[in-house]
Amino acid sequence: MSAQHEAGVAAPHRVVILGAGYAGMSAAIQLAARVKGRKDVQVTLVNAQERFTERLRLHMTATGQQVAELSVPQLLEGTGARFVRGWVTAVDADAKIVRIDDDRVLHYDTLVYGLGSLADTAAVPGVEDYAYTLNSAQDAKFLADRLARRDGGTVVVGGSGLTGIESAAEIAERHPELNVVLLGRGEPGAAMNPKAKAYLQSALERLGVQARSGVEVVKVLPDAVELAGGESIAADVFLWTSGTRVSPLAAAAGFAVDERGRIVTDAALRSVSHPQVYAVGDAAAIRQGYGVMHGTCQSGMPTGVHAAVSIVRALKGKQPKPFRFGYYHTAVSLGRHDAVVQFTHPDDSPRRMCLTGRLAVRYKETVTASPWPTYGRMKKMPASGAFWPRGGRFTRVREAR
Ligand SMILES: Cc1cc2nc3c(=O)[nH]c(=O)nc-3n(C[C@H](O)[C@H](O)[C@H](O)COP(=O)(O)OP(=O)(O)OC[C@H]3O[C@@H](n4cnc5c(N)ncnc54)[C@H](O)[C@@H]3O)c2cc1C
Repeated sequence: MSAQHEAGVAAPHRVVILGAGYAGMSAAIQLAARVKGRKDVQVTLVNAQERFTERLRLHMTATGQQVAELSVPQLLEGTGARFVRGWVTAVDADAKIVRIDDDRVLHYDTLVYGLGSLADTAAVPGVEDYAYTLNSAQDAKFLADRLARRDGGTVVVGGSGLTGIESAAEIAERHPELNVVLLGRGEPGAAMNPKAKAYLQSALERLGVQARSGVEVVKVLPDAVELAGGESIAADVFLWTSGTRVSPLAAAAGFAVDERGRIVTDAALRSVSHPQVYAVGDAAAIRQGYGVMHGTCQSGMPTGVHAAVSIVRALKGKQPKPFRFGYYHTAVSLGRHDAVVQFTHPDDSPRRMCLTGRLAVRYKETVTASPWPTYGRMKKMPASGAFWPRGGRFTRVREAR
């Protein structure tokens, strides 16, 4: 019997949050603020590093730009939440334990799983061996060092999604001495309205990025990439930004996962197989009226907040409410002096309205810089983090399920 039981004090309800990314941080701060001072709830946040990784700025890190040093433990100070630095190596769903660095164990009553996602480096042979990625700040720094050492040559960026576009533009602007080639199946900006797409493509051209669409990378070699059809493109440096994969930990734990390994949630963001586990951010497969959400920061933060609010409701014996979210923008930087912001319908399809140029640069920077101050505000006023577009008719279907 524990000392607490002997003294007649009930053991606290242990909430362990895995991952201090945009979603996990939102969950930790929101929950800690709501249960502050309570002895019956213990909040623990686990992350690989103490430093908060601003993934939204990794293409800046990759081109040698300094980004702010943001400390997770410092932000948690005064909230009562505990920070554990370490690498999560396993979750045992039956024993309700998390293994950290193989040798440490954390017990949980409620788990919030927010370990994020990575570019899919297993999709194409050679990517694991020869490609750079922006999967972590460390990976981005490796690329920055490599680019800084070159005084010419070709950088090929694989994947013409938003990360690929932002990276190609940033590299071309910072390293005019390099040829930058952007390869992808789809056209850059394909999901935007014609005006925004045309603006984005002409900005890439102005920066000297050679964008090629309709191509499929099938193999990566030390100094070239091979395309379907047999063409080979010389690449002194190859950056891979395409696809998403998640940690295999969730599937290994026996949680119900989708074909990408993301935890399948119910309407309240709980695992459909293990209701004491909430899944947030990129690691979760969350269905809305318009389909399964794709991972973004704009949607990840609300999932973390919603999970925290739901946990507090459950502790009070109340039912959690369904999560509803509608997208509102796609903001893309094109180097430091240009950008495009495509406003969207809640299902992420493009509206007619977009911003370009300096106004878009300011908008994009405001959005990129906003998570950290938002967490700071939530510490004092948790309700300040609870506003996001619920998606109206686009997400209403979900409630009827
Ligand atoms: C270059 C780039 C630009 C982007 N731009 C935008 C944008 O403009 N707008 C937008 O909405 N989205 C953007 N995204 C996508 C966005 O960054 C992700 O959707 C978002 O980071 C997901 O948040 P998350 O909390 O789920 O995961 P993450 O932010 O990836 O956080 C996961 C955390 O878990 C930690 N972790 C993972 N595995 C373990 C483990 N086993 N043990 C311990 N810790 C672990 C990681 O270190 C990390 O701290 C961009 C992504 C990139 C790469």
